[in-house]
Order: sequence, then structure tokens, then C-alpha cells
Amino acid sequence: MMADRKGRFGQHGGQYIPETLMNAVLELEEAYEHYKNDPEFNRELDELLNSYGGRPSRLYYAQRMTEDLGGARIYLKREDLNHTGAHKINNVLGQALLAKKMGKTRLIAETGAGQHGVATATAAALMGMECVVFMGKEDTIRQALNVYRMKLLGATVIPVESGTATLKDACSAAFKEWTGRIEDTHYCLGSVMGPHPFPTIVRDFQAVISKEIKEQCLEAEGRLPDAVLACVGGGSNAIGSFYNFINDTDVRLIGCEAAGRGVNTAETAATIATGKLGIFHGMKSYFCQDEYGQIAPVYSISAGLDYPGIGPEHANLYDTGRAEYVPVTDEEAVQAFEYLARTEGIIPAIESAHAVAHAMKIVPQMDKDKIVVITISGRGDKDCAAIARYRGEQINE
Ligand SMILES: *Cc1c(COP(=O)(O)O)cnc(C)c1O
Repeated sequence: MMADRKGRFGQHGGQYIPETLMNAVLELEEAYEHYKNDPEFNRELDELLNSYGGRPSRLYYAQRMTEDLGGARIYLKREDLNHTGAHKINNVLGQALLAKKMGKTRLIAETGAGQHGVATATAAALMGMECVVFMGKEDTIRQALNVYRMKLLGATVIPVESGTATLKDACSAAFKEWTGRIEDTHYCLGSVMGPHPFPTIVRDFQAVISKEIKEQCLEAEGRLPDAVLACVGGGSNAIGSFYNFINDTDVRLIGCEAAGRGVNTAETAATIATGKLGIFHGMKSYFCQDEYGQIAPVYSISAGLDYPGIGPEHANLYDTGRAEYVPVTDEEAVQAFEYLARTEGIIPAIESAHAVAHAMKIVPQMDKDKIVVITISGRGDKDCAAIARYRGEQINE
């Protein structure tokens, strides 16, 4: 294990990886340092994000919700309108283009619920690259529709049977594959996680969200928002929504974690509320752990927030007090899911509904001249059957 000083966010982050992975990580770091400042790379990425991804995404004034809650003015950052229906496309287009510039012809990825696998398969199809997605065997059964989507997009899906046969095992399998095959392969990691430089690369590709919020809010209101809210799994849509506001200290940054059945139960995924400092998947950060320091099984109604850790930059924003992290239960998220559908005609991803739920708590307490932005990280079509089931109704998918 090597624990480099590079890529630290306070005490978090770093590179806790076996020496066999060091070459791959170093090659990626060097390439990224070069291309991030390359005007041609940035022009091509902007073009992809706009013409293919559908950017810029709208900053929508939610008038009915604002009037109903009777407090701050509410804007929704509509990442749900992106191609493939979520913010994940921002990251995969960036990494796929970077991989192509590095001369790689093959993308590999881990996926849990299948959303990141589908996004990576999409980018690979667009760029004419081979794509292999590692997915826990359990998840391939639970998320059969996304397995079909990935195959339709030309990807190969490899069911991982080790460990608990879920996301963390898929992650480990992808790292192992990358170690043995760096000549032609890039590991397209799905969130602001893992060893340096991944948390920085993924954050930079998602930071377009806060860059646009800033421009759009100035345009609409002539000033910055008072608060920005986003849901946190690994934390990529949240850090993307926060990043360009970190130095604007009057803007409250609020990350909404999945509390599942409650932070006082074992069925939770709220890392900041219940986790401890640890080292896992190549980084130091906070993780949900059992009494022996083993990574704990986590639970949330939302498959996208069901990860036992949080990105190292968030862990540091928490330590320094620059951002707040709040737990939101399944029940609160489901209520917000139903509320936004009824009130604004927008069905959010159940992940995003966690941020909507917390906004519903704080907005009525705020003055009417305050401004709140909620990032809607994705659309909720994928969740309708599960929410119906939660409410006791069976739907044939
Ligand atoms: C994957 C996903 C998330 C969680 O991932 P982050 O890295 O925390 O953003 C949130 N919302 C949606 C819609 C997702 O697909």
C-alpha cells in the first residue's frame, strides 16, 4: 500500500492503492494535468456537452412550490433534462474524451443500480469505444432492465460473484481489471471517489453544474443564491453543484444524505451522520462501518445513494464547516417525490427527492427575498415502480 500526499482534501483523499495500480493512476494524472488546460480538449468537451448532452440545463423557477411553501424563492437545476436523464453524462463524456486523447480504445466501469454503467456504455457507443461494465451478480438480477440497456448500447456486462456481489465488489473487480490491462483501457469511475486523481477529475467534470447555476442565477435574480441543496451518494452531483460557490461564503451549501429507515437504525446510508474515518477504495474518508471497522452494509430506498462512503472533498467540507450534511429518510424522500410531481409536474429521481425533502423543511422558515437552488440530479421514471411498491401498489414493469 502506498499513501501518497497528493490529492488531499484536509486529512481526506490520497492514494491508498497497491503498487501494481500506481502506473495506471500516474499515467491518468499526467494526462489529465495536460488536457485540463488544453483549449482544444475543452472546446471538444463543451461541444459534446452541448450538442449531445443537452447543456446548459435549465435553472427553472418553481413558482407553485414557492407559493405553496411560503418562504424563499425556489429554483430547480434541471440535470434531469440531460441526455440519459441525469448528471452522470457530464462525467462520462469528460472521461471518455480524455481516454480517447490518451489513445485508449476501451472503457471499463463499475455500476450498482446500473445508471453509471448505462451512461458509460452511452459514451462508449458515441465514441466508438469498447465497453465492459462490472456489476454485482445480485444487482444484475435486481436491475435487469439496465443490464439490457447496456447490452443494447453495445457493452459487455460482467456479473461479479465475489463478496456480497454488489457495488463495492464491482468496484474492486474494475480496479483489478484495470491493473492488468492499462495499455488500452481507461477505468471510468462513477463518482468523486477512489484514489487521486479521480475525486478531482470527476469534480471538475461536474463543476459545470455550479458554473451554470451561478450565471443563470445572476441573470434571473441579479445575485447569488442563499443556499444550494443537492443529494449525496458518493457526492458527484453535490460537489458539482457546490464547487463554484465554495469561496462565496454567504452561500449555504447543503448535502442531503440517505438516512434510509433512520440514522438510529442499521438500515441507513447516511455516512456523515453515522460513519467514521477509514480507508477504502483507495481513499481516506468517512465510511459506514461496523464495530470492528469493517465496511457496513448500507440501505436506502434509493439505489444511487446506497454507497457506504462519501467523497473526500465532502468529508473535508464537513470538517471545515463550509458545507452542511443532513440525513433524509425514505419516507421524507417519497413524500417529496410525490409532492414535486403534483406541484410542478416534475417527477424527480428518488435520489434528488432527498434534496427536495430537505428544502421543504427549511424554505418555509426563510424570508421571501431569499433564494434557494435545488439540484434535480436525475429524472424519476426509473423509480416509479419502486415508489408504487413502497406505497403498497404492484406495477408491472
Ligand atoms: C448516481 C446518482 C446519484 C448519486 O451519485 P452522486 O455521485 O452522489 O451524485 C444521485 N442522483 C442520481 C439521479 C443518480 O443517478
